[in-house]
Amino acid sequence: MSNTLYRKYRPKNFSEVIGQAHIVRTLGNSIRNGRIGHAYLFTGPRGTGKTSIARIFAKAVNCAASASDEGADAEASIRRSEAKADACLECKSCKSIADGQSLDIIEIDAASNTGVDNIRELRETVSLPPTSLRYKVYIIDEVHMLSGGAFNALLKTLEEPPSHVIFILATTEIHKVPETIISRCQRFDFTRLPIDDIIEKLSAISTKEGVTIEKEALEMIAISAEGGMRDAESLLGQIISLEDKNVTAKEVKEILGTTDREFVSMIARKLIENDTTGAIADLNKMVADGYDLTTFAKSLLTYMRELMLLLVDESLGQGLKRKMTSEQLEIMIKVAQKSELPKIIEIINLILEAQGKISAFLIPQLALEIAFIKATRTFPAPAREEKKEYKTQETKKEKTDNIIKEPSPAYDSKSAKSKESVKETENEIAADFADSGTAPDIDDVRNNWKRLLVDIRPRNHSLSALLSNCQVMKIEGSTITCATAYEFYREKLADPANRLTVEDVFSSILKSKIRIDIVTDKSLAPKPAEENADENSKEGEQSSLLSSALELMGGEVVA
Ligand SMILES: [Zn+2]
Repeated sequence: MSNTLYRKYRPKNFSEVIGQAHIVRTLGNSIRNGRIGHAYLFTGPRGTGKTSIARIFAKAVNCAASASDEGADAEASIRRSEAKADACLECKSCKSIADGQSLDIIEIDAASNTGVDNIRELRETVSLPPTSLRYKVYIIDEVHMLSGGAFNALLKTLEEPPSHVIFILATTEIHKVPETIISRCQRFDFTRLPIDDIIEKLSAISTKEGVTIEKEALEMIAISAEGGMRDAESLLGQIISLEDKNVTAKEVKEILGTTDREFVSMIARKLIENDTTGAIADLNKMVADGYDLTTFAKSLLTYMRELMLLLVDESLGQGLKRKMTSEQLEIMIKVAQKSELPKIIEIINLILEAQGKISAFLIPQLALEIAFIKATRTFPAPAREEKKEYKTQETKKEKTDNIIKEPSPAYDSKSAKSKESVKETENEIAADFADSGTAPDIDDVRNNWKRLLVDIRPRNHSLSALLSNCQVMKIEGSTITCATAYEFYREKLADPANRLTVEDVFSSILKSKIRIDIVTDKSLAPKPAEENADENSKEGEQSSLLSSALELMGGEVVA
């Protein structure tokens, strides 16, 4: 089934060929002008139309309606427009070639075991005139697979080709073809097809096959075929045979096992915008959805490379048309315009570094998370107006927000600007709360403090005890500052996991997203006199605090 579509929709004429315009034009001109060469070499990636064009050429040079034929069939000549090099497809020779019945079109697959024998036969029969056609056409596919002996035999024939013979050699590996052969041929370099062209053809095929297929699904098929029409058609055939008459992007994604390009570009943009939280949240969502991280890292790397090329010179983007739709390319150019080359290179280096560690880490996403944090912390964020444009993309702030927003000391020193941008973001958040009119004030915080201690207890008993030793100092924007007398308690409370719990519980009590900042204030330490005065309650609290602190540290009281 997989190659059925390819055969069914194979171009029958030059005018039906998609892409390879320069080749079609040159070959067409040679036919129109009656200047037919004796040896052609078609080189290029698989599935780009080499054999199809070889067959079309064989038909065109032999068509009874051919302009160069003195005894041309008058009727056929009329059918064949003088401006076109296309064969008529109706005459006896066209039909015999299309049916594969003609003895004068000899196709040899040099990759097969019979290839060598075929070449030997070729030497013996090449001088014999064609049986019914004007030209005997030898199409030798995968010519680089020929043995040294076979190449020599072929070379001898190419040196003095009989006038009725045309050779069309095709190869995917030109570097394996001897220079002596190459130099005797007219060489044509086939290129991968632009994604847009492949999509257009796939879309036409789907319509003819009565299948509805989502545009995004066609894009994915075309992209994964990497510019080869045969592979694209074969993939489409497989998918059509598996699915019903209505193919969705989701189904294709599952079949191809590819990482969604949109997803990759979304994460890439977040990295460029220094949106650490967003990028990590997306990464974790991907892990939860069961994506393969190694494949993802490769896709992300590819995306960053493409951005890098665009940043070096937009003309380098021309090559990208064979890897993405023009719509995707347009989006990428916009992203590139907002990026800086050093930042992109830094991201690429970090992903490369992480790539090899993905499978080595117990937590597969950890290597990428570290790379993401480094990538978003070492460079200043883009200008704020630009950042706003993507703001709609940022969904609700994740819980992890507060842990990550705090620049790690390692990067603090590297870039003061990065710290500034964090400050800016914080101010933005604060401003957001002020705008919404729901920002809690100091009284709200103090009045709800007891409730925090109660609500947090079931989640973390020790944390509740630690908090009971804290005092609310102030609230600025969304940041609540609490003080404790002891550095040791401050450290425990500032521990990301603990702080996250506190912020989470308190945010839901206050119905507003808040941050907690813990400071040390030695003046809060209970004075010995006070302790004695209020012995019953204080002592109990202190000892519970001690055991809680030990619990948190995993220690025990040594008596
Ligand atoms: Zn014809």
